[in-house]
Amino acid sequence: MQTKQTTLLVVGGGPGGYVAAIRAAQLGVPTMLVEGEALGGTCLNVGCIPSKALIHVAEQFDATRRYAGNSPLGIHVDKPRIELGQAMGWKNGIVDRLTGGVGALLKKNGAQVVRGWATIVDGKTVDVKAASGEDLRIQCEHLLLATGSEPVELKAVPFGGNVVSSTGALAFSEVPKRLVVVGAGYIGLELGFAWRKLGAEVAIVEATDRVLPTYDEELSRPVLAALKRLGVTLHLGCTAEGLAEGGKGLRVRSRQADEFVLPADQVLVAVGRRPKTRGFNLESLQLDMAGNAVKVDDQCRTSMRNVWAIGDLTGEPMLAHRAMAQGEVAAECIAGHRKHFAPLAIPAVCFTDPEVVAVGQTGEQASKAGIACQSALFPFAANGRAMSLEGTEGFVRVVARKDNHLILGWQAVGTGVSELAAAFSYAIEMGARLEDVGGIIHAHPTLGEAVQESALRALGRALHI
Ligand code: FAD
Ligand code: NAD
Repeated sequence: MQTKQTTLLVVGGGPGGYVAAIRAAQLGVPTMLVEGEALGGTCLNVGCIPSKALIHVAEQFDATRRYAGNSPLGIHVDKPRIELGQAMGWKNGIVDRLTGGVGALLKKNGAQVVRGWATIVDGKTVDVKAASGEDLRIQCEHLLLATGSEPVELKAVPFGGNVVSSTGALAFSEVPKRLVVVGAGYIGLELGFAWRKLGAEVAIVEATDRVLPTYDEELSRPVLAALKRLGVTLHLGCTAEGLAEGGKGLRVRSRQADEFVLPADQVLVAVGRRPKTRGFNLESLQLDMAGNAVKVDDQCRTSMRNVWAIGDLTGEPMLAHRAMAQGEVAAECIAGHRKHFAPLAIPAVCFTDPEVVAVGQTGEQASKAGIACQSALFPFAANGRAMSLEGTEGFVRVVARKDNHLILGWQAVGTGVSELAAAFSYAIEMGARLEDVGGIIHAHPTLGEAVQESALRALGRALHI
């Protein structure tokens, strides 16, 4: 077996791992990165990017179909149809461009990529079953673990056949006639909306009483209304019990204990993801854990000296931008800089229709933390840009301290609000007060005016409501 030496070895080439490798190499740290599948990880290959591309296809198709009906805009279209193969080809093209770009960036910055599956030998040694067939041992001073996460499987409805995870649901070869989705969280709703708009009959089975239960009820209400308008059938307070005989349906139990069968050609199980800690001898390091995630401090150090961990492997929130930010912190610390992962807020965006954004604390969270706060909401129904985009549903809400008006949180739901996430984050990270945001000139006509107006409303001087 050939042996190689490096200063930093990164295991996993997702958003966490590839960013860490790029940054470390930029800082002059000799760096190798091992990736068992394609560079870019879950996010670029089977997560964020292909899902958003599919959602875009679905939105365009749905809009075209609406125009074929009775469009108030005066647009008329005859018999729209979707060539799913072509749509998937377009989506895959975006993935290829981005993953190719990651490879080029790693190369440009001098990080060496090894294709193959890594198995841990000890905190400084990793064996790689290389894609080339040749086995390799890599010895390093610093080991950075960025192996990501995997979908949670339901014992009663294991993956296989017509039971798929998000990966399968991003690659259907035809629009399923009847799609049953288990889980009304991020994946269930993003993909549930998309396949409904592409023509599938969609039923959603959710264990809690709400869709998007991690967001507050006022925020998820417009999403619930949109699901109902689209004709998505909701089974809240229900769990999946198993496949029906013949596999063409899902047995579901409601809280009242009655069992019924939902007909299904495909079943998407999206009940969460768990850190990928199994299958590469991680347990041999006996690292301290936080639940089923690897425990790290605010520099992404694990309990073993010079072994670091970032991204989904370190638990919630399992988001690509958190993984990237941790990757940067870990790389800088390994290079000898002093850096901490201590964001005031990590933005969360759900790409449903309407979209949902939450950054920082809600009023309820702030009150629970003992902070006297105030909150105000500006509806898109009073925003000219929203009207011109046919998206007047939803609002922007701001939460601020009562005593000094320091902004603690933002929540928004509406068409295109994902792009407001940056403004929300800036305000919180830069310590803005209501007066700061209320006093800034926001371009007209934009959705951003609702950001300013919510701050003005909290100050009791909204102009357009
Ligand atoms: P990953 O991206 O999972 O990368 C880990 C990599 O490690 C993988 O490529 C894997 O092959 C490799 N690996 C694992 N073990 C080994 C080993 N032993 N040897 C070699 N290589 C190994 N997040 C957002 O912020 N926004 C979104 O819109 C969004 N949409 C999503 C949509 C879907 C359908 C899914 C499933 C996820 C989505 N996410 C989204 C979450 C996001 O994909 C993850 O948070 C992010 O990819 C985590 O990055 P990571 O680097 O920690 O791990
Ligand atoms: P999730 O945690 O967002 O939602 C899971 C849902 O399944 C919850 O509503 C939960 O109550 C429900 N559930 C759990 N067990 C159930 C059962 N047995 N029967 C019925 N319902 C059940 O998980 P997800 O949608 O699988 O997404 C996984 C992770 O991927 C997310 O937490 C997020 O970190 C990431 N992600 C992010 C984005 C984004 O940022 N836009 C998009 C997709 C995925």
